[in-house]
Amino acid sequence: MYPFVGAIAALAKGFATTLQFAFQKKPTVQYPNVKKQHAPRFHGLHELRRYADGKERCIGCELCSIACPANAITVIGAENAPDDRRSPGERYAARYEIDELRCIFCGLCEEACPTDAIVLTPRFEMADYRRGSFIYSKDRLLVPPEAGRGTAPDERPNGIPSDLGGVIEQKSTVSIADGYGATNRGEILKTERKGLAG
Ligand code: SF4
Ligand code: SF4
Repeated sequence: MYPFVGAIAALAKGFATTLQFAFQKKPTVQYPNVKKQHAPRFHGLHELRRYADGKERCIGCELCSIACPANAITVIGAENAPDDRRSPGERYAARYEIDELRCIFCGLCEEACPTDAIVLTPRFEMADYRRGSFIYSKDRLLVPPEAGRGTAPDERPNGIPSDLGGVIEQKSTVSIADGYGATNRGEILKTERKGLAG
């Protein structure tokens, strides 16, 4: 008799715990359909920014590469041609690559950059099948010309530094809320897989 009562009591105790949590707000979100808000200072995938006139902010100085503790950044600068200026400075980044597998998302590259060219966005959906896909070259990092912000230095009135692109308000072209789906890697992966299968 007593063991039976003990078992019932244990069951009741167990179900009481279940019932206690059954009607509480669920902490689990149905990702990717439901997306959780990032912390405002979240460090995700990098992007290379432009000025409002479309010029690249990066001047190929390599300071980000030197500051990077993971040796993840490769920059090779080149002289701007007078008839084809890519950046306001003398030089621009002819080659710019970040190995996102080496990156520890510390943000030191962003801190070191004198022109606010390299920033970390809220994007984090970078999963992939090949190591090579994590090498983000300049064509993947550079924002489109229409996403440029801030006045380029050689156009500043009286040489007085102007807005550098709303770094504090929204430093990257990706808003915190949009950060999740912004890389579109899913569609790219589907295409790559089709290519492999074919
Ligand atoms: S976030 Fe840190 S580890 Fe990643 S590239 Fe920048 S400096 Fe290097
Ligand atoms: S991203 Fe900034 S720090 Fe890095 S090479 Fe370009 S200008 Fe220099």
